Amino acid sequence: MSSQLNGGSPRYNPLESMNRRFDTAVEILGLDKQFADVLRVPDKVVICNIPVTMDDGTIKVFEGFRVVHSDHLGPSKGGIRFSPDVNLDEVKALAAWMTWKCAIVNIPYGGAKGGVKCDPRSMSKGELERLTRGYTIAMKDVFGPESDIPAPDMGTGPQEMAWIVDEYSKVKGQNAWAVVTGKPIVLGGSLGRVEATGRGVMVSTRTALAKMGIKPSEATCVVQGFGNVGSISARLISQMGVKIVGISDVSGGYYNPEGIDVNDAVEYVKNSPKRNLEGFPNVSLISNSELLELNCTVLVPAAMEDQITPENAHNIKAKLIVEGANGPTTAAADAILEEKGVLVVPDILANAGGVTVSYFEWVQNRLGYYWTEERVNRRADRAMKIAFENIYNAAAKYKVNMRVAAYVVALDKVSQTLKLRGLF
Ligand code: NAD
Repeated sequence: MSSQLNGGSPRYNPLESMNRRFDTAVEILGLDKQFADVLRVPDKVVICNIPVTMDDGTIKVFEGFRVVHSDHLGPSKGGIRFSPDVNLDEVKALAAWMTWKCAIVNIPYGGAKGGVKCDPRSMSKGELERLTRGYTIAMKDVFGPESDIPAPDMGTGPQEMAWIVDEYSKVKGQNAWAVVTGKPIVLGGSLGRVEATGRGVMVSTRTALAKMGIKPSEATCVVQGFGNVGSISARLISQMGVKIVGISDVSGGYYNPEGIDVNDAVEYVKNSPKRNLEGFPNVSLISNSELLELNCTVLVPAAMEDQITPENAHNIKAKLIVEGANGPTTAAADAILEEKGVLVVPDILANAGGVTVSYFEWVQNRLGYYWTEERVNRRADRAMKIAFENIYNAAAKYKVNMRVAAYVVALDKVSQTLKLRGLF
């Protein structure tokens, strides 16, 4: 069965979705339009072409981007995406979301995002290493512990971060651990970073269920995407006592109303030749679109953008959506979900646990002193809980949904900073 995701479809543009919500927040805050436009557009866009010698001796040129949306609150921060579909508008939207996200969890960073148009699944480790090192060289004047700090995103992980820190350190002539986060632990990574985004999704789910008066033991959950964010969210949400009834990845959707053992699924993926869920036993095979419309209490989209759209929003049965992915709901679907009474914990809040622990990693690198996993988790959970309460209260204050409230809180903070710093 095909996965039927909308990813890469020209029908939806995440930048448009970002802009629509941004405009709503500008209106609510009564910000001057010209002033707001400074914060709408990215500060800097860098495009590079990276020549890589492939294993068969041929040379292939890969297009790469780095978008710095803002550095008003501190150095810009954001992951690097390796994907065949990555494009500039997508990276611009992702960079802006990083700005809002960092403001919401109250960490001293601006927002950025990177992307390289490639298919990491079809490349060897050596090819990926040469590509990552080439991208680092191309961005050597953009990246920096005090200027712009990358991290993993779709298609990249601790190994790519290790290559970046090594290449950047060579160029600068000294070890620069704090130039990138999401590193392997032995290279200055933080305990708890790999699980941090999923953990934040779990904290958001737990807090939202409590607000709704639903006991975890009475709730069911469906998770779309079974990579870093999806699999860890599913595992931690199931540990809360919620029954996971559906999971999915590129190979399709998998449903069992009696519950899916997430640990079994993680083990299955680890040992499967394609490293995905294809052939996972004791479940019904469904499409990714059917998965989103399953009967459940909580839906966690944790794959990619533009999954919940005006075409399927009417059919969503979940009472609570916790957005693990960035931009899984299009702006046009927001109103439909609101009308249906679905509580949506927006991406810029729900998945901010990752950047929070990235910040902790950067702090530890600069201190040269490393925290226990218990300390990392405790502080990250607290940051997520405080951010959730702030947005929930702002939603009540402005009489808007949590997504609009999140944009209002973030834009208020960043615009105040910009006003104080001033323009020329
Ligand atoms: P990942 O590469 O580890 O996993 C992505 C998952 O989505 C995989 O299971 C994959 O099979 C599935 N997927 C991807 N493309 C698909 C397609 N076309 N059809 C069907 N399934 C598809 O990525 P991740 O790090 O888990 O990121 C997932 C989302 O979460 C992205 O939107 C990312 O920007 C966001 N996010 C990630 C982090 C982080 O710390 N990793 C932090 C914040 C937000």
